[in-house]
Amino acid sequence: MKKHLSNGEIKEIYSMISDYHKKFLEKYGVKLPKLTDTEGNYTKDALVLVYLAQNYPDTKKVSKEELTQFIRQYYPNVPDVQQARHLGAQKGWFIAAGGRDNRDVILARGEYQLISLEKPYPAFHGHRIEETEEWEELKRQYGYRCATCGSKEGEPNIHWPNTITRLQKAHMDPNKPLVPGNIIPQCQKCNRADRNNWVYDERGRVIKLANPIVIKRSEKEIRWKVYKILYEEFKGVNPNE
Ligand SMILES: [Zn+2]
Repeated sequence: MKKHLSNGEIKEIYSMISDYHKKFLEKYGVKLPKLTDTEGNYTKDALVLVYLAQNYPDTKKVSKEELTQFIRQYYPNVPDVQQARHLGAQKGWFIAAGGRDNRDVILARGEYQLISLEKPYPAFHGHRIEETEEWEELKRQYGYRCATCGSKEGEPNIHWPNTITRLQKAHMDPNKPLVPGNIIPQCQKCNRADRNNWVYDERGRVIKLANPIVIKRSEKEIRWKVYKILYEEFKGVNPNE
């Protein structure tokens, strides 16, 4: 990665990003950050994207420190650059972040890599999901993708290339009925029996346990921590009394 970019280079990379955005990402609700603000300064979001997109598609891993150094050439007082993480999960740019989603590349905590300008961040859906009775409408809101892994209906599963993705109505909370407001589309690989152990949010991410059996399977250290939490909450009472 070049640590210093000329204005010409920045404009050139931004214009490439903008072309890909128009062709592939706009339709998913991914927003292209403005290159400059009203005063003509580069925006931090645009700078981060430009930095990560250098030599696209041959992108490299970038550490948060490196990104921060780059941004400080324009914003000397910036404490620590969070933009890469937000541009990914929240804004839909396919930027993998270490310590979170290592399904595409191996990244350490605090490292980022732009994976693609042709696909949005997996399971990104641009806007809040509207509750609907219509299954087709719900799938449309998810871009016909599995809420959990991002595999697209009718196309090979991202993790199992020999399996063609079929989206199924899956519970967010398996302890509640499968009614509007509790349904996410999942592929047949993500919507398997074992999923009933978990509660998912509308983005297909696990947020809670739905089955305490999971505790039994966990490491002793985790079971001990759970025991401490419950011991404190229930003040050590005998559960059988
Ligand atoms: Zn899936």
